Amino acid sequence: MSDYVKSFMEELVAKNPAQPEFHQAVEEVVESLSLVLDRHPEYRANKILERMVEPERVIMFRVPWVNDNGEVQVNRGFRIEMNSAIGPYKGGLRFHPSVNLGILKFLAFEQVFKNSLTTLPMGGGKGGSDFDPKGKSDNEVMRFCQSFMSELFRHIGPNTDVPAGDIGVGGREIGFMFGQYKKLRNEFTGVLTGKGLNWGGSLIRPEATGYGSVYFASEMLATKGETLEGKTCLVSGSGNVAQYTVEKILDLGGKVVTLSDSSGYIYDEEGIDREKLAFVMDLKNVRRGRIKEYVEKYPNAVYTPVDPEKDYNPLWDHKADCAFPSATQNEINGKDAQNLLNNGVFAVSEGANMPTNLDGVNIFLDNKILYAPGKAANAGGVAVSGLEMSQNSIRYNWTREEVDKKLHNIMKAIHNTCKTTAETYGTPGNYVNGANIGGFLKVANSMMDQGIV
Ligand code: NDP
Repeated sequence: MSDYVKSFMEELVAKNPAQPEFHQAVEEVVESLSLVLDRHPEYRANKILERMVEPERVIMFRVPWVNDNGEVQVNRGFRIEMNSAIGPYKGGLRFHPSVNLGILKFLAFEQVFKNSLTTLPMGGGKGGSDFDPKGKSDNEVMRFCQSFMSELFRHIGPNTDVPAGDIGVGGREIGFMFGQYKKLRNEFTGVLTGKGLNWGGSLIRPEATGYGSVYFASEMLATKGETLEGKTCLVSGSGNVAQYTVEKILDLGGKVVTLSDSSGYIYDEEGIDREKLAFVMDLKNVRRGRIKEYVEKYPNAVYTPVDPEKDYNPLWDHKADCAFPSATQNEINGKDAQNLLNNGVFAVSEGANMPTNLDGVNIFLDNKILYAPGKAANAGGVAVSGLEMSQNSIRYNWTREEVDKKLHNIMKAIHNTCKTTAETYGTPGNYVNGANIGGFLKVANSMMDQGIV
């Protein structure tokens, strides 16, 4: 760690105590950016990085609601408006009991770089609540979403801040929040993305993050003359990102052998084919069940529950070629990264945000495998959200083929930016540096143009 990174991080940690995920996300970026800051002293003089780690605005609020038993519940709501140098704040809402200020600040910080990489005009933000949708009735989820939006609506708008989904926030939750926003504002605008197709949504938005992560992996493989055809892949998660990651891997001739949720994972040596994927989609999106039920339906597969005593995740300890972590942050530690390498994995594309901790990242980089950090590999979701905003503005819907083609081209462009930027800064093949520096430059230059604000 250079002296600059060390003193920057010391100050950040002292100023933002008890936010380990935020520290981790910033440290990874600052390590890469020291290469740029040495070449461009003007960024340092203008304290661009010091400004970028300070959110432009943080909104934190009470979300009271009443459950089906008539009991009053109180959750906490957040919106982090991180950076608006290149466009309105844009980023998802996460509903999960683990949500806190530090986690949302890490996500908002990553989002700024990711959105910049998409080539679309979007600033960065993130929000959510410690509300847990699991086990709640549709009516409870609706009452919570309405209460959440009854405060959030005054801070967002189609030209100010445009939230989307994330963990625990899918089409159902976006619908309830959009309905409440429309009622309070008395206007029909594209204030949220991930909307239903009948009321302003874009085709391919549900598929975008998973498809995009697989498109990115294909671009990386192509640099080695490889494709996904015949490759065995490990996928974690079983939500939105994981499901469409599996679908696109199947389209491209690969084989997927794992899926997980927060209770455990399944290993299906025969491969998760389209019929099995349809079962998982129904299980997770309609019946809202647990991945464990997969082995009841397909008894040749093996279910392994999470063991908190283990210092590694056995999902990453199977023979494979490629890995697509698509559940949550820090699901791959140093030991998991080493297990992946020992099992023959040579390409990792992060559908989730920051699924690999810093030890794991360093192991991937030291071993020079094809490793795509989330802010590049999973940018397809927000990219199609950006395309949803464009379609809302022109009041027109593009076809499935048009949106998919634009998504594919955006993922190719992001890959190209990461690859060439890494080369320009003397670290060829290092997609972490490529993504961090590529994302940073556009935002930094815009901030320089706009003065000290
Ligand atoms: P979903 O809520 O649809 O699915 C999340 C999946 O991850 C579920 O299978 C969930 O299991 C599992 N999971 C959540 N928390 C944990 C945990 N602490 N430990 C183990 N498993 C966990 O979310 P998404 O698929 O939308 O999001 C997945 C990841 O992708 C997140 O990191 C998100 O930030 C990122 N992402 C999502 C985008 C999008 O467009 N949706 C865009 C870019 C990134 P369970 O059901 O048990 O909770």
